[in-house]
Amino acid sequence: MYLKFWGTRGSIPAPGSDTVEFGGNTSCVEIVSEQGRRLVIDAGTGIRALGDELVQSGRPVRLTLLLTHTHWDHILGMAFFRPVYLDNTDITIDGCPKAFWGLAKVFDDRKGNGYFPVAFDELKANIRHSERIANGPLQVGDLTVEGIEINHPQGGMGFKVMEHNRCMVFLTDNELRSDAPVGRRPQDFAHFARGCDLLIHDAQYLPEEIADRRGWGHSTYVEAVELALQAGTRRLLLFHHDPARTDHQMREIEAKARELVKANGADLDVAAAREGEVIYV
Ligand SMILES: [Zn+2]
Ligand SMILES: [Zn+2]
Repeated sequence: MYLKFWGTRGSIPAPGSDTVEFGGNTSCVEIVSEQGRRLVIDAGTGIRALGDELVQSGRPVRLTLLLTHTHWDHILGMAFFRPVYLDNTDITIDGCPKAFWGLAKVFDDRKGNGYFPVAFDELKANIRHSERIANGPLQVGDLTVEGIEINHPQGGMGFKVMEHNRCMVFLTDNELRSDAPVGRRPQDFAHFARGCDLLIHDAQYLPEEIADRRGWGHSTYVEAVELALQAGTRRLLLFHHDPARTDHQMREIEAKARELVKANGADLDVAAAREGEVIYV
């Protein structure tokens, strides 16, 4: 499988000359299997450009959208995803069960509420809602997807995507802390990601920032590296970049994360996710 980052930013889009390298769009990752089956994780603002590319290909769009949770930065792009206005589009929405209802609320509810002029049931695409992952693995062609509850205000879900003997884990908006409830402790996430080829993890904050931001549902690059080492993953990509973080600061975070890996004598390839980057797993 391969994946492409369409949005790597957290909390709010951050366009501008300081965010060109790592990107300003919010959470959206496309995953395509060897057989060509398509998963999209999150509908942040990055999904708009993905939609344009899919429509330009001229082929009917068929995909499974996995929503991590219903915070704005993870659903904001859906109304601007061009395939939802085409009747030959087929979308199954799964992931965090609550997130689907949050997503639908963005649209006009015909009672004078919502945040967009079009109603959800006016969209021409065939959009289905399933709650498969909350109840066990989801099979999408040759891909198997498992979910885990993340440690985040109002809850949400992270995902493990497996294809034959390859495996990637996506955990954003996840606060790694030892006093979290059972099932959401660092060791639970390490167990979930054990031996995976790639871990993508939230690293919004610096260690010196986290004290004031405990309980906001995010982690530092140090905590993300520690999790990757504990899980024995081969590669780590830092994700959900703080909107205030410049490209220069992001490169500093990458350098510090690599120093940390070296200090541990570990063999872990670590980088920060860049918008537009394609990764083969
Ligand atoms: Zn977020
Ligand atoms: Zn969130």
